[in-house]
Amino acid sequence: MSVFSNSSFDDHERVLFCSDAATGLRAIIAIHSTVLGPAAGGCRQWAYASEEAGIYDVLRLSRGMSYKNAMAGLRFGGGKAVIFKTPDFKPSEALYERFGEFVDSLQGEYVTAEDVGMSVAVMEMIARRTKYVSGLPQRAGHAGGDPSPKTAFGIFKGIEAAVAFKLQKSSLQGLSVAVQGVGNVGYYLCRYLAEAGANLRVADIDEDRVQRAVDEFAAVPVALDEILYQDVDVVAPCALGAILSEQTIPKIRSSIIAGGANNQLETDADGRRLLDAGILYAPDYVINGGGIINVASEFYGGEDDEEVMRRVAAIGPRLSGIFQEAASSGRPTNEIADSQARRIIGEAGTA
Ligand code: NAD
Repeated sequence: MSVFSNSSFDDHERVLFCSDAATGLRAIIAIHSTVLGPAAGGCRQWAYASEEAGIYDVLRLSRGMSYKNAMAGLRFGGGKAVIFKTPDFKPSEALYERFGEFVDSLQGEYVTAEDVGMSVAVMEMIARRTKYVSGLPQRAGHAGGDPSPKTAFGIFKGIEAAVAFKLQKSSLQGLSVAVQGVGNVGYYLCRYLAEAGANLRVADIDEDRVQRAVDEFAAVPVALDEILYQDVDVVAPCALGAILSEQTIPKIRSSIIAGGANNQLETDADGRRLLDAGILYAPDYVINGGGIINVASEFYGGEDDEEVMRRVAAIGPRLSGIFQEAASSGRPTNEIADSQARRIIGEAGTA
């Protein structure tokens, strides 16, 4: 098991392995950068195939958070945590409190929040042991709560920007969108899309969640292994990462990929593959920044929900700028976003 030679290690500042025999907690907190502020990023609870897979994921996700926070203009660096759902994993209040103690031991260098497999209720348990946690229940008039609806709103604005750029259409009315994963983010995204008059196709490993989208949004259910390859206007990946690869890209029929999942590209080279295939790709950490904008407003305080929505809506024009720069330079959108993010972090680092 390696960290320093792991392909997703990117000079991370600190990686904390958290183990507690009494509760069965096994977790990793990765801090990629604190140049712009405390390393902020959600905690993912997942049944990883191996410890290596979890390390790879947390390193990659935390770097993505540095870039995401920089691009969203936040006073946050990048970090992420994973909790391993081992075969004998038993979620308990004591386990999440123990995780909170590990977060607290970093004395504010890392701020946690929800990611896949987590909930507001779990964040409240973590908050019993640390103040470095966001995504807590919303207080009236303040930003806060489950970040997923804000994430979904930002993705919706990003899809509008991508459709305007690629298809020269100012409305989503009558367009078709295939949504992979209708969990927290995918569900709210479907709601925005349905309200805008889009026709939906959905897939999820959880059949109840598929049924909810069918019932509420008249979505058409699609087989898990076919959702990415639908003949639709937009594919919106909202499940897990590494779904855009040398194997999958040649089979994609949509001309736009714009969704909320983190780390959609299996490798950076897949951005070039998408460009060569004529597919417009909305860089994941730019389009899905709505949740962390909400988290930042909650953590630093002082902004109401309306102001947060205004800042999340700016994701649309931000993406349009990336699309334009990519088109005029002939470079893939992921490279444009990476260089913009590195420039922001680099300038702050030397300031
Ligand atoms: P979630 O766990 O609520 O939803 C994910 C859904 O994907 C689940 O319903 C799951 O059953 C489904 N899924 C898993 N594998 C699948 C597969 N192979 N095919 C189809 N469906 C599959 O998580 P979420 O909070 O909605 O996050 C979704 C994605 O968005 C993740 O990649 C997450 O990192 C990213 N993201 C989330 C937020 C947020 O605010 N929650 C913010 C930014 C990015």
